[in-house]
Amino acid sequence: MHVLILGGTAEARRLAESLAAGTRADLRVTSSLAGRVGAPRLPPGEVRVGGFGGAEGLARWLREHRADAFVDATHPFAGTVSANAAAAAAATGVPLLALRRPGWAPAEGDVWHETGSLEEAAGLLPSLGRRVFLTTGRLGLGAFAALEDLWFLVRSVDAPSAPAPARMEVLLDRGPFTLRGERELLRRHAVDVLVTKDSGGAATAPKLTAAREAGLPVVVVRRPPVPAGVPVVTGPEAAVHWLRERFGPGAFPHP
Ligand code: NAP
Repeated sequence: MHVLILGGTAEARRLAESLAAGTRADLRVTSSLAGRVGAPRLPPGEVRVGGFGGAEGLARWLREHRADAFVDATHPFAGTVSANAAAAAAATGVPLLALRRPGWAPAEGDVWHETGSLEEAAGLLPSLGRRVFLTTGRLGLGAFAALEDLWFLVRSVDAPSAPAPARMEVLLDRGPFTLRGERELLRRHAVDVLVTKDSGGAATAPKLTAAREAGLPVVVVRRPPVPAGVPVVTGPEAAVHWLRERFGPGAFPHP
């Protein structure tokens, strides 16, 4: 029994941990990472790093490694690999499940501006503030490069490269973040607008609370949809349940 997990998220790691905690000796779990992060937190089980070579390469990998099922537990904004996974599932018949943590929802007092892309977010910014806390990751900073009148605090796991905003300070850090820390960051840098993707999850949510408390507007970039026809669960436990339902209780740990 061989399960491939397309990873790069805390949920993917937790799924690998759950499966590793099972007792069946012939359950093989391979986690796949894109290789973008310098020192990734590695899950238990086998790990492979780097792209597959598109949907065809992924389909080839599934066949060659005799995968019985695969779980797309990539980040909600990793749209290309998710589309490739759906195409590879259709080509090979290997069952695919998408594991997506729930998105965030605005709470009372939030001033959210939802957009469909980073470019749209950049278009909104001059009307919302001057000192921007930009938390959308190091890729795609080029969308904000033309905003020369604005100052950016860019937080990312690894250092960004050009194109990027001209007036920017980079903060290399990786969640989870605390509410106390986020409040202090907004205050110290006199931030007046926050930009985030709707990544969901608790690890990076305190910035939203801190922005709400400070009365700051938040630009929220909406997620791309999960490819049509791919079943979706919102947590690792539900993914284990899906595997058990398909392949029998003997193969997987009890939830
Ligand atoms: P993407 O645009 O959807 O993927 C671009 C290419 O990277 C894919 O076509 C694939 O190459 C390769 N790739 C992506 N995820 C892979 C994986 N888990 N294993 C092997 N190859 C993978 O993805 P992205 O936005 O660059 O994200 C890359 C990784 O970082 C993902 O694994 C994701 O979970 C993680 N991540 C992304 C974000 C984000 O905001 N986008 C945030 C946190 C973590 P081939 O076509 O050659 O197979």
